[in-house]
Amino acid sequence: MMTRAQYEASIRKLKLQVYMFGKRVQNPVDDPIIRPSLNSVAMTYELAERPEFTDLMTATSHLTGKKINRFTHIHQSVDDLVKKSKMGRLLGRETGCCFQRCVGMDALNALSITTFNIDQKYNTTYYNRFLKYLEYVQENDLVCDGAMTDPKGDRSLSPHEQKDPDQYLHVVEERKDGIVVRGAKAHQTGAVNSHEIIVMPTVSMSEQDKSYAVAFALPSDTKGIIYIMGRQSCDTRKLEGDTMDRGNVLFGGHEALVVFDNVFVPWERVFMFQEFYFAGELVENFASYHRQSYACKVGVGDVLIGATQIIAEYNGAGKASHVKDKIIEMNHLNETLYCGCIACASEGSRKPSGTFCVNTLLANVHKQNVTRFPYEIGRLAQDIAGGLMVTMPAEQDLKSPETGKWIKKYLQGRADIPTEERMRILRLIENITLGTAAVGYLTESMHGAGSPQAQRIMISRTVNMKEKRKAAKKLVGLEDKG
Ligand code: SF4
Ligand code: FE
Repeated sequence: MMTRAQYEASIRKLKLQVYMFGKRVQNPVDDPIIRPSLNSVAMTYELAERPEFTDLMTATSHLTGKKINRFTHIHQSVDDLVKKSKMGRLLGRETGCCFQRCVGMDALNALSITTFNIDQKYNTTYYNRFLKYLEYVQENDLVCDGAMTDPKGDRSLSPHEQKDPDQYLHVVEERKDGIVVRGAKAHQTGAVNSHEIIVMPTVSMSEQDKSYAVAFALPSDTKGIIYIMGRQSCDTRKLEGDTMDRGNVLFGGHEALVVFDNVFVPWERVFMFQEFYFAGELVENFASYHRQSYACKVGVGDVLIGATQIIAEYNGAGKASHVKDKIIEMNHLNETLYCGCIACASEGSRKPSGTFCVNTLLANVHKQNVTRFPYEIGRLAQDIAGGLMVTMPAEQDLKSPETGKWIKKYLQGRADIPTEERMRILRLIENITLGTAAVGYLTESMHGAGSPQAQRIMISRTVNMKEKRKAAKKLVGLEDKG
């Protein structure tokens, strides 16, 4: 396994083509806007080194028997799935934001199921190819970006019907030694902190879409892959140096638009090619795993609830009964989310390849709750924090010889708490509910791993309505005719 320092050094070596604010970023690792997101991924290495977290953060490779980082592991049991949920909460709590490495883990696990199933149906050899790749990832302890979401153009049209055929990533040339692909993947979490990029289709497909039914993996600095960084609200506060106005002064996340401008993929890195029948299955498996991964929001919720409790105390309102009750409500919602990610893992089952996958229905129910509860938790945090959270002057004003004394005097809460401490906590709440971390805690909770309607469709498809009707009829003596 790599250490935190080795991880950073390995990312530094990559020749990524990254753009931000209209300019090429020559050194993403040290860029002040990107750096906090690298710090978050680095925690997936650092915690794996710490003995108290070994059980959660590492696993035994089913390929080599070696100890590996759990983020590169293929789940071999229900216990592995439960540990994955717990690991997500732990890292969310340690970083207070999105730590980005889950998408790759979920892509690897989804591919381990689907490549096996494709081989069973078509006598292909994808599974062995995939296992070779997996061993490479495990041996080198790599971060993979799992890239699923295409730009999608006109949502009423399928991939082949789009006016611009590149709205979904597709194969534009088939060669003896591989394929050439073109298109883009949007909202790519942690893309420029990744060694590898694993591309999968984003929707179910028909035969006419078969050139879009493609899955593969490439080193992230492959020629023709271009990263255009997404903005986050309050992102430029990171350019202000070590100011407390950043809220979370250590960690962050990032997303990027990743363009594939006629990129060559050798055959040994291709895991699906024209098997359109399996595109939907791969999407569903990845989505189920990734909906479970939203255990991370429980950990961020822990941080937000902690900050809210502190600010209530700093404001002198910690003992007010309505404040206590609101904090109970926040905990109730947060632990309900925890129930969901533990439940879908506990009810997981073995797939033909031997990989364990979460219960699809429960993973979708969990993610549906994630689209709602963090908003309510955030609303209650803002309620308790008070308006100062958004009207507070800058740290420079606190430090200024002219205004510092006024800030200290009038932004004081309880007399025994230094004003600066109160300001720091307010900035953290601002960061998670309105600032850079709100991307992860709120909007990503809404749309990441699929928007709310995607889960409702899966709930309606997987819930057993027949059984429910039968149960009701039985109790009133009615015969069930189906
Ligand atoms: Fe992982 Fe959560 Fe970030 Fe998704 S949003 S990559 S699940 S930390
Ligand atoms: Fe996400």
